[in-house]
Amino acid sequence: MRMNVTASVTPITVVAHASKPKNWFDGALIDGDAPQAGLTTHAMHYGSGVFEGIRAYATTNGGAAVFRLPEHLQRMRRGAELLGLAFDPSQATDAVLATLRANGHRDAYVRPLAWFGEGSFGLDVEGHVPHLMVATTATQVHLNGSRARVGVSTWRRNPADSLPPLKLCGGYINSILAKREAKQRGFDEALFTDRAGNVVECTGANVFMVKDGVISAVEHPDALPGITRDTLLALSGANVRMVSLAELLDADEVFACGTAAEVAPIAQIEQREYGANPISRALASQYQCIVRGEDTTHASWLTAV
Ligand code: PMP
Repeated sequence: MRMNVTASVTPITVVAHASKPKNWFDGALIDGDAPQAGLTTHAMHYGSGVFEGIRAYATTNGGAAVFRLPEHLQRMRRGAELLGLAFDPSQATDAVLATLRANGHRDAYVRPLAWFGEGSFGLDVEGHVPHLMVATTATQVHLNGSRARVGVSTWRRNPADSLPPLKLCGGYINSILAKREAKQRGFDEALFTDRAGNVVECTGANVFMVKDGVISAVEHPDALPGITRDTLLALSGANVRMVSLAELLDADEVFACGTAAEVAPIAQIEQREYGANPISRALASQYQCIVRGEDTTHASWLTAV
């Protein structure tokens, strides 16, 4: 069976195992989707959960490694803390590695999720059982990933003073609305801008631009501080600044980046079409060398499976 993980700019093709994949649930590996969520599950009603999107890669030494696992789990811990949800990064680390090993996955997307389970219908989280799951799905490597066509969303990104930019489940309704609108307009992905016309981010990826050879990372308080963005900042020494939509449309190259999207050159924003994106492509190759351990200058970013 094939399915597309669409939270990314470049959809990842996920190939499900012939036998049931193992998932980690509340302390043990289980077969497939066995647990049933009760009807009072708090996260189902109110989105009271936090998740991560992480990737593991087959490395050039014949093994596999999870890319920047501690950083992903620390971000998840911050989200859990905000919700008052118990979360232990070291337990989650073990769960991620155990699930990857049990499924024999090397190139994989890893999805941990912590959430409030059954209890009352009240908004208080107290009295609801906390749960943790980890699922891994094999990813196929796209050598010639299609370049995204992006529409500017009429929806605003959740403002950080209403909902902090963390991977809180309920916050993603905002991305879902923007993605639905973009697709209905014939685009692949949506770009959020603020009321002043500044670029915020895409629905599941951060944004960079290149103008006259200068790389700039879009900075915005409402955008998720992405781990891929941080990686690319370290690799490229890009400027970090607010960028207006007008500047983005005038740029030579634009790319989105995220764990799932990796470095995704953008073909088009509304009617503006971009060219060959040589700098974005060079960064995309450099990123691949790092995540696969071919370039060992950042070996500390890799957690061996
Ligand atoms: N913005 C949003 C809204 C996201 O969901 C993601 C994916 N986690 C990103 C940016 C990119 O973050 P990262 O590089 O940490 O995956």
